[in-house]
Amino acid sequence: AQGFLEKYGYLHEQGHSHSVDEVKSAVRQFQWLSHLPITGILDDATLVKMAAPRCGVRDRQSQKAWTEKVHNIFTGGNKQHLRKKRYTARKGERWSKQQLSYRVVTWPRNLSRRSVRLAVNTAFQLWSNVSGLLFLEASHGPSDIRLAFYEGDHNDGTSNAFDGPGGALAHAFFPRRGEAHFDKAERWTLNGHKGHNLFLVTAHEIGHTLGLEHSPVRHALMSPYYKKLGRRMLLSWDDITAVQQLYGKPPGGAVVQLPGQTLSWVMQDWELAEHTEGGFEQPHYCQSLFDAITVDGNGTIMVFKGGLFWTVSSEGNVSDPLPLRQRWPHLPFAIEAAAFSPLDAKMYFFKGRRMWRYSGSDLDTGFPRESHESGLPHHPDSAFFYSPLGHMVLFKGPRYFVMNLETLHPEPYYPRRLADWRGVPQGPNGALTWADGSLYFFREQRYWRFDPKKVRVTGAGTWAQTLPWTGCNRTLSLFLNSILGY
Ligand SMILES: [Zn+2]
Ligand SMILES: [Zn+2]
Repeated sequence: AQGFLEKYGYLHEQGHSHSVDEVKSAVRQFQWLSHLPITGILDDATLVKMAAPRCGVRDRQSQKAWTEKVHNIFTGGNKQHLRKKRYTARKGERWSKQQLSYRVVTWPRNLSRRSVRLAVNTAFQLWSNVSGLLFLEASHGPSDIRLAFYEGDHNDGTSNAFDGPGGALAHAFFPRRGEAHFDKAERWTLNGHKGHNLFLVTAHEIGHTLGLEHSPVRHALMSPYYKKLGRRMLLSWDDITAVQQLYGKPPGGAVVQLPGQTLSWVMQDWELAEHTEGGFEQPHYCQSLFDAITVDGNGTIMVFKGGLFWTVSSEGNVSDPLPLRQRWPHLPFAIEAAAFSPLDAKMYFFKGRRMWRYSGSDLDTGFPRESHESGLPHHPDSAFFYSPLGHMVLFKGPRYFVMNLETLHPEPYYPRRLADWRGVPQGPNGALTWADGSLYFFREQRYWRFDPKKVRVTGAGTWAQTLPWTGCNRTLSLFLNSILGY
């Protein structure tokens, strides 16, 4: 217990002998932060808590930082003044810029690099969603924040040496050292059934690299103890206040939060993808690239990405991400094209060599169907219902197909060359018919507006410069506001 209290900053000067009062006071402080009855006695509950998996960063400054934070909140008044004051008071404990790069330097054993990068990217995004920070992944060379997996003693002091499975899982340094270390001996997972969830631990350690101390709020991400991914929001008000005091609010002020339940669905998808052959090459959650986009009969836009989709109502309200399979059972994740047909009020999905058709949430009999049986292309780039033709259009590389929805076969004389669509690029991710009759094509971070009357592209632009590092919801609203004029 004494070793623990020294390591975590409750007792000073290692190896020094401590008076009974010093130890009692240290135990009381530990109990306060750990939500145990504050007795100052090393009882069973206290010892059990000391052995629980946790972050290896000291708790020492927590109570002070907490008191200061609460004081700032309740004294209110001139926030700008308070923020300035706090900036100077904590000089050297925050980054002086808002855009930071990061890189994973060494890797764990039992997760693929792809999964690790997904977990890390999403963890950074969690913080950029609620603050003025932007994060960029650096593929090589120097970066502001480096994440590494080490075993045992790894040259940053004996008190930082990792202790094998359990105990300290990871630790990180306050700004501007920019390092987070993870115990390579832990069993790291994404779904958290066995072992510890790398995404959660990374999100916590990033908090330290940004200058956040441990939080005494039980459900805060910055609480020192390892938690499982539950249903609640990952960041508590305390986490958000702390990061905003250092770096301000997100541009526009809108905070984007994802419920733990959604994140755990996302992670199940990653886990699934980890064990699925081929496919799923762009699983980056919430990146600028989406799999498909369409609009239903009520004017509700649906954006598809991996195992999730978002809806945007005709008033411009963006939903939380929803699991694909909840709405369309049996649909695989990472579909390649999707389109709603107002003709039969059905949803069509395409992936690989197959096609799915749904009436509401019911998969129509005979589906999924092999695309080649209908003379349709494999792996279409995009699909959309085109009212001037009254048919579904499928883009595939340099050609396009016009599909008759009654026969499910291409119309005669198709496929034809894409050049018919003057100005439309090859390989769009998706297309959307808007209420004014114009057609929008999307590819990566660009869009093209096609005028069906002039039969050519009449406008184009970029909509996603900052997109990979901001929240999906916020980005969608911004994008739709700027292009479609909500
Ligand atoms: Zn910590
Ligand atoms: Zn270390």
